[in-house]
Amino acid sequence: MTQTTVNGQHTRKPDHEVIIIGVGMCGIYQLYRLVELGVDVTALEGSAGIGGTWYWNRYPGCRFDSESYTYGFSFSKELLSEWHWKERFSPQPENLKYVNYVADKFNLHKHIQLNARVKAAHFDETHNLWQLSLEDGRQMTCRFLLTALGLLSTPTMPRIAGAADFKGQSFHTFYWPHEPVELTGKKVAVIGTGATGVQVISEIADKVKELTVFQRRPNWCAPLNNSPISAEEMDQIRAKYEQIFTKCSQTPGGFEHEPDRRGFYEVSREERLALWKRLYGEPGFGIWLSNFREIFTDEKANAEFSEFIADNIRSRVKDPVVAEKLIPKDHGFGIQRVPLETRYYEAYNRENVHLVDLQETPIECITPTGIRTTKQEYDFDIIVYATGFDAMTGAFDRIDIRGVGGQQLRDKWVEGPTTFLGLQISGFPNMVMLAGPQSGSSATNFPRGIEVCVDWATKLLQFMWQHGYTRMEATPEAEERWSKHVAAMYNMVLMRKAKSWFTGYNSNVDGHEFGKIRHLVYNGGAPKYFSTITEVAGRDYEGLVLS
Ligand code: NAP
Repeated sequence: MTQTTVNGQHTRKPDHEVIIIGVGMCGIYQLYRLVELGVDVTALEGSAGIGGTWYWNRYPGCRFDSESYTYGFSFSKELLSEWHWKERFSPQPENLKYVNYVADKFNLHKHIQLNARVKAAHFDETHNLWQLSLEDGRQMTCRFLLTALGLLSTPTMPRIAGAADFKGQSFHTFYWPHEPVELTGKKVAVIGTGATGVQVISEIADKVKELTVFQRRPNWCAPLNNSPISAEEMDQIRAKYEQIFTKCSQTPGGFEHEPDRRGFYEVSREERLALWKRLYGEPGFGIWLSNFREIFTDEKANAEFSEFIADNIRSRVKDPVVAEKLIPKDHGFGIQRVPLETRYYEAYNRENVHLVDLQETPIECITPTGIRTTKQEYDFDIIVYATGFDAMTGAFDRIDIRGVGGQQLRDKWVEGPTTFLGLQISGFPNMVMLAGPQSGSSATNFPRGIEVCVDWATKLLQFMWQHGYTRMEATPEAEERWSKHVAAMYNMVLMRKAKSWFTGYNSNVDGHEFGKIRHLVYNGGAPKYFSTITEVAGRDYEGLVLS
């Protein structure tokens, strides 16, 4: 940091005008935008490579459940014309290649520092800048701090005694080893049946000697219906990119899938069944997002549809006792995040796959050789923890972020996050969360949402520079209004009953209990969110104090 004199006054020039923390999809696009503008920016990535989610999650079966061509960046026509998505739902290795291809193409690597994990970020009120401390001991300052920390980047391990004593291989899916894991001939345990567990179980069932799934609660899953994309099909997709992205910008979830606008009760049961049968055979989230809107809001409608899915599970799983265990009884379809699957239910028809229902026989402990439940002891070579994440706020909590008056963000958010538009926090000036809790981007097909938030943040910074401002901060009133609005919207959707990260529940994190909703997600849909933040910008950033 250097001292300079402006108009006779001492001022401190930060090391960088902007620092971005995190170089996943979000950080990459933000970096591209600022480099393009010639801004002095550096991006700090804690890992040894870029890509965030696609760098870390290397477990077998990891892939998009957004259509690949709706997930890729939309900002560069050249990029769109060059990249060939090989599958409708692209797998992790290909996605990581894509991220690196983008960074290479736009010469971003020279602005990225790897293995640069931020330990603390403190706001310096005297000079209106952020002082960062890295784990490697370095210190850095910047005027504006942009966080691109990821929504699901803080994995959580179950609180089960003995995990450290296990003598075989064990890892959380997020930390699946980078070197190949030999599965052939191995006895493998998977704990957890969320979207990750479902992907990994389906993929390894026919590769391992024995697979034992430890399920606490089942999820409602539906077929992914993946397929390859030929060169000719990719050409057709390229010709339609503009339409595709326009459509995504108009739907609540940022996908091409849009709700069936007919009223659930206006059509006959036969018509409802015809729609559901069609959607069950179609790719992606259509079964969830192209359904009747009442599925999300009306218990009776939701129950009827859930029974349709339950019947499909019964028809796919041969053993009726196992089938019933795989059907959720404590919540309806789509109340929690729907895992999309490829032959998941058929895995349970295999002789080498076993389901342990933890509601009947809970895990007592991990032993040096395996897992002991209240009923029996199991031996394993490998234990896979597919036990989820401290979603959205977890990554913020891991950094010692302090704002005005030394207030710690993790203290402010102890009961759940409060934000202005999911983008800013009162008391934490000059910081923009590019994909924060309560923002529209986090509840959508992620890149579609983050492109809008990054563009918004970039315009805000340009506004600051044009006016010579050095400080911006959300007012407490604006934050309160937005946070109340986000909370009120939870009351409109059945999702408020979810025992999952949607409501901030995580049994492995202190204080993240069921029934104590942490309002992480904006439920108003992407178009409404984007028009709201655009209007705020149009009114010269009403709700922010700029000086
Ligand atoms: P998750 O949905 O939170 O699931 C965690 C699983 O672990 C649940 O089945 C949970 O059981 C179980 N679990 C947690 N602690 C446990 C314990 N102590 N004992 C036994 N079981 C325990 O996590 P996830 O599957 O990693 O998925 C998280 C999110 O990542 C998804 O919702 C999705 O948004 C994203 N994701 C996306 C993709 C994709 O795009 N293709 C793929 C995977 C994940 P309970 O249900 O009983 O708590």
